[in-house]
Amino acid sequence: MKTSQSSISSLAIVVLLLLVMLGGCAELQPSSQPMIAKRAQMHMGTLVTVTAVSFDTQVSDRAVQAAFDEIKRLEGLLSTWRSDSELSQVNAEAGRQSVSVSRETFELVVRSLEMAQLTRGGFNIALGPAIEAWSVTEQQQVPDEQVLERLKPLVDWTSIQIDKKLRTIYLPHQGMRIDVGGVGKGYAADRAVEVMKRAGAKGGVVALSGDIKAFGVLPERSGFPVGIRHPREEGTLIGLIDLHDEAVSTAGDYERFFERDGVRYHHILDPHTLQPARGCQSVTVIAKDGTIADGLDTGIFVLGPENGMALVESLPDVEAIIVDADGALMVSSGLRDRLGVP
Ligand code: ADP
Ligand code: MG
Repeated sequence: MKTSQSSISSLAIVVLLLLVMLGGCAELQPSSQPMIAKRAQMHMGTLVTVTAVSFDTQVSDRAVQAAFDEIKRLEGLLSTWRSDSELSQVNAEAGRQSVSVSRETFELVVRSLEMAQLTRGGFNIALGPAIEAWSVTEQQQVPDEQVLERLKPLVDWTSIQIDKKLRTIYLPHQGMRIDVGGVGKGYAADRAVEVMKRAGAKGGVVALSGDIKAFGVLPERSGFPVGIRHPREEGTLIGLIDLHDEAVSTAGDYERFFERDGVRYHHILDPHTLQPARGCQSVTVIAKDGTIADGLDTGIFVLGPENGMALVESLPDVEAIIVDADGALMVSSGLRDRLGVP
């Protein structure tokens, strides 16, 4: 039996590359030049690295702190392992009554449902009961088919009732649950970038493990360099990309998995079968918006390479790199000229 290390180490290469390059820039600059502040902390169960660029050391420091404060706030608002969060209250009232939530929580749920629609249910925020049945990293065993079958009515995202006027959410069956873990990190990156801009940063990058959002430019660079890792060879990159006011997010079957009888069971489930999705090894999405990049990487992983790439090509400002189940690389048309060779 083999277990992957956490997504922290599996994606560290991406962040590491970025930091080495950022660090190199900082040292070359005299103090009158743009100042770079960077720090790493653990939040949302993962390593979060924040880098800010401005013309004043204090502004850069403040922007980094503001980003961490914002990420901590969102953790309290959205995490479902905390019983006092709004979404935990929605979940606790499943099958009983609707719950009114803040505009922010409501909008994130609405956007998540839109991504469910786009990916034909590939991305599904109601999947929690099945994710728990698998508990890929803790349990490491394949759940009984009958157990999964019984869960199917509980993971039906189309039954989630939202009232836009009253801003309420209702889960019609007891045991249903909303979990925004599949978009939470991308959303946090979006929000953190907003507060960094407000704090005066001219450029920066927020990386929550593999969910990365950059804004502005680096001194003497056109964008923020990010490496896309090989899904089977740790330490090997399949491509390099310079981010320009965009987000990148990767979903991979190597992040959390276990092996049984030569079969890999990983953490991204196909909501239709409640089994691990089998079409891809990794999906990297680049979009203006981190929430979209994070939701779509999971949804496209489930859709599979052909349908997933067709969706990417139909959406404006969305690009993707897909490694299919056989290890073949597919790059969306808008990215082909941008993807650098490592
Ligand atoms: P992470 O970066 O934490 O791995 P991802 O964006 O790759 O997050 O999403 C994977 C997580 O989302 C899983 O750990 C699980 O909690 C949840 N998930 C798994 N399958 C799906 C799915 N089909 N739709 C939505 N969320 C999912
Ligand atoms: Mg995702």
